[in-house]
Amino acid sequence: MDYQNRAGSKFGGGGVASASATNADRRERLRKLALESMELDKDPFWFKNHVGAYECRLCLTVHQNDGSYLAHTQGRKHQTNLARRAAKEQKEGKQDANTLGVNMGTQIRRNVVKIGRPGYKITKIRDPLTRQLGFLYQLQYPEITPGVKPRIRFMNAFEQRVEEPPDKNFQYMLVAAEPYETCAFKIQAREIDRREGRLWEWFDEDNKEFWVQMLFKTEREERYSGVPGLAPSLPRR
Ligand SMILES: [Zn+2]
Repeated sequence: MDYQNRAGSKFGGGGVASASATNADRRERLRKLALESMELDKDPFWFKNHVGAYECRLCLTVHQNDGSYLAHTQGRKHQTNLARRAAKEQKEGKQDANTLGVNMGTQIRRNVVKIGRPGYKITKIRDPLTRQLGFLYQLQYPEITPGVKPRIRFMNAFEQRVEEPPDKNFQYMLVAAEPYETCAFKIQAREIDRREGRLWEWFDEDNKEFWVQMLFKTEREERYSGVPGLAPSLPRR
């Protein structure tokens, strides 16, 4: 029997069930992800009350088990409250501006609650004139703290502590934007062209989208400019 062409199928008779199955799937995946990536005892808002239920002290909600609490922390309400709280703290000057950018990625000394990684899109690019290869990154930061602009920093394999052992063939471009987690893109350890117009970044305040374009120097240029494969870091301060 040809189910696909039955009368009425275009109204989505079977589509509804599969859509809700997909949602359940997604929730389950999110829950697992949260369980893996979060440690409850480090969560300042997690609280076990006298009847053994879990409370979120940020949103003042009650949850029957840790899974349901974790699902809550991935939800819109909690995320919005986190962003609001971060904005308020920043306004009150609780954030130590000094640590942003300096500690990116390795140690975060401040007690700021992170709300996850941004969505992103990467496009491989080639300059039509110079034939330089590179990437265009677009990162979405819909809940970024008001007044904060994302910042980038390049790090070589030996500065980072995430991937062990370090592989000298790669370097990392880190992007920090409170209250999001700092994320890093792994790229070839080729020298980056830092001339104006070659390496640029732009934060689209209206769409909360951060754009970074980077191009590698051509092999010919690399040969004439010091040690290839060792991209210098941005100034630390
Ligand atoms: Zn909450």
